[in-house]
Amino acid sequence: MRYNLHTHTFRCHHATGEDRAYVEAAIQAGIKVLGFADHCPQFFPDTDYYSNFRMHPEEAEGYVKSLRQLQKEYANDIRILVGFETEYYPKTYAKMIDFFSQLDLDYLIMGQHFIGNEYDDLTMYSSVERESKRLLTRYILQVLEGLQTGVFTYIAHPDIFNYQGDDDFYREQMSGFLRELKQLDIPIEFNMLGLKNGRDYPNPLFWHLAAEIGNRTVIGYDAHQPEALLDEGSYRRCRKILSDLGITPIGLEEIAMKTPRA
Ligand SMILES: [Zn+2]
Ligand SMILES: [Zn+2]
Repeated sequence: MRYNLHTHTFRCHHATGEDRAYVEAAIQAGIKVLGFADHCPQFFPDTDYYSNFRMHPEEAEGYVKSLRQLQKEYANDIRILVGFETEYYPKTYAKMIDFFSQLDLDYLIMGQHFIGNEYDDLTMYSSVERESKRLLTRYILQVLEGLQTGVFTYIAHPDIFNYQGDDDFYREQMSGFLRELKQLDIPIEFNMLGLKNGRDYPNPLFWHLAAEIGNRTVIGYDAHQPEALLDEGSYRRCRKILSDLGITPIGLEEIAMKTPRA
């Protein structure tokens, strides 16, 4: 059964299309379960920093309402789930969890686009090419610390950190990371958008290690336009790469949906 738990909406300011158009594209593509996980609002302390590539807090209620409405309307054709893709920032985590308690959500996925807390000085964008061993280790530690909270259903693009240093170090660090993820029983996402756009992820070496270690794997479309859900070519490429590695993506029933309540 085809499913996708990684769908964005226009509210993140870099995706396009009406919510309904995503639902209709998913039905057309034969997707049986469509999960929306738009970029979650973040709650930074008093600072000039405002991130413009995610939903603003005041948009969240309308997001949930619109999707719950579509869920009812299309109940016979598709199952819709409502969630968020979010960062784990130690300094703002408590406020975010507090915010979730006012919303009716089905799940959260983690996507760690930044190391640090995004608004503060030590912040780094995960996907910039770098050779820093120290930053690769920091990325891994921050993701693991976040996942230990137990609120995340899976980790999106776990291989987003664009390390360009030596392979031995990467292999050693990522093997440890993947073993921890397996221990925590967190499925890892093979990101279709990254593959389609030729980004640094999915990283072949990372996935080679994941195959060896036997991490449970999910394909995430990371759709930012309704048409992305109809991209059969990219979907087939994901399946082929994984199957060549001996990885069979898990079924939806094997995923423990975690409800992000305070
Ligand atoms: Zn995005
Ligand atoms: Zn995403």
